[in-house]
Amino acid sequence: VTPELQSMLDAHELLTKFYHHLLVNTKDGQHALEYLLKRGFTRESIDKFQIGYSLNSWDFVYKFLSKREFSPEIMEKAGLIIKRERDGSYFDRFRDRIMFPIFDRNGNSIAFSGRSLGAEEPKYLNSPETAIFNKSKILYNFHLAKPSIRKLQQAVLFEGFADVIAADRSGVDNGIATMGTSLTEEHITLIRQNTQSITICFDSDKAGIEAAYRAGNMLVDAGCTIKVAMMSDGLDPDEYIKKNGPEKFRNEVIGASLTWMAFKFLYFRRGKNLQIEGERLAYIETILKEISKLTKAVEKDHYLRQLASEFSISLDALQQQLKQVFFAEK
Ligand code: ATP
Ligand code: MN
Ligand code: MN
Ligand code: MN
Repeated sequence: VTPELQSMLDAHELLTKFYHHLLVNTKDGQHALEYLLKRGFTRESIDKFQIGYSLNSWDFVYKFLSKREFSPEIMEKAGLIIKRERDGSYFDRFRDRIMFPIFDRNGNSIAFSGRSLGAEEPKYLNSPETAIFNKSKILYNFHLAKPSIRKLQQAVLFEGFADVIAADRSGVDNGIATMGTSLTEEHITLIRQNTQSITICFDSDKAGIEAAYRAGNMLVDAGCTIKVAMMSDGLDPDEYIKKNGPEKFRNEVIGASLTWMAFKFLYFRRGKNLQIEGERLAYIETILKEISKLTKAVEKDHYLRQLASEFSISLDALQQQLKQVFFAEK
């Protein structure tokens, strides 16, 4: 590690501690703490995830780090302050936000994501890409979740930080999330080094279901075994836990995860009216195409029977058509 990188890491470590102190011990942070507690965050999670608060000030970080002999160039390179075009002066990137420190796999704080308290946009403001922070390689909570992921041989992939933290408080401590971006090959490599079995637990809204389909396909292509956990009413995991409690989340969401194929059965029928003959036949054809991709004969047979019984079609006819689909795909 070069002195410059070390200095960037030191700045993050100091700020992580100070932001946390501001949140839990000061009057300035009181409204932020109340916001978190009202959302269902516990004091225990706030400490464990080192959540903090950035003051509503244009130069708090600049002054705080200057006093400790950090140069403005280092602070800017670390993404903590921004240079004004007009006069070359600086201002703090994060102001009046809930601060989620982002840790690398060794537990070094390397970036922040700041959530606005009100309606202010953007909802989440991330550190920019820096010499110590590369979004496409970082998974939120990976450093804490890793032992559990290895022990359970199972990782749970969430969309948001709040979901990871709510799951953790519910006893699901093998949760990770991307930094609000889609999954990359680098993320997948990192997961694959620890387990090949992943439960995707994204928001059960339209965007989340589409993202789950994309992430699932990437993971399947990388040789992973996928399950998909879904929630009712378009909720996200954090909202579900707040509404229904940890036990229901563990048993009726994570515990009742769908197999990848069962998820696709549901995925491909969204927005379709299967009462209409043409749509029903198109759906059956799509599912046959998916079944034809399966490699295990027993699985093929299982899903063919499911399809046959749901639509009252003879297994024979489905098997014949499966052969046609298979040859058409070649
Ligand atoms: P919250 O519960 O605090 O509202 P969320 O995790 O439910 O947050 P979503 O809107 O579901 O938020 O977005 C999922 C993830 O996408 C967030 O955790 C965050 O990482 C990222 N994200 C959301 N909005 C933005 C944004 N405006 N800019 C950058 N990243 C964002
Ligand atoms: Mn969402
Ligand atoms: Mn969400
Ligand atoms: Mn949410």
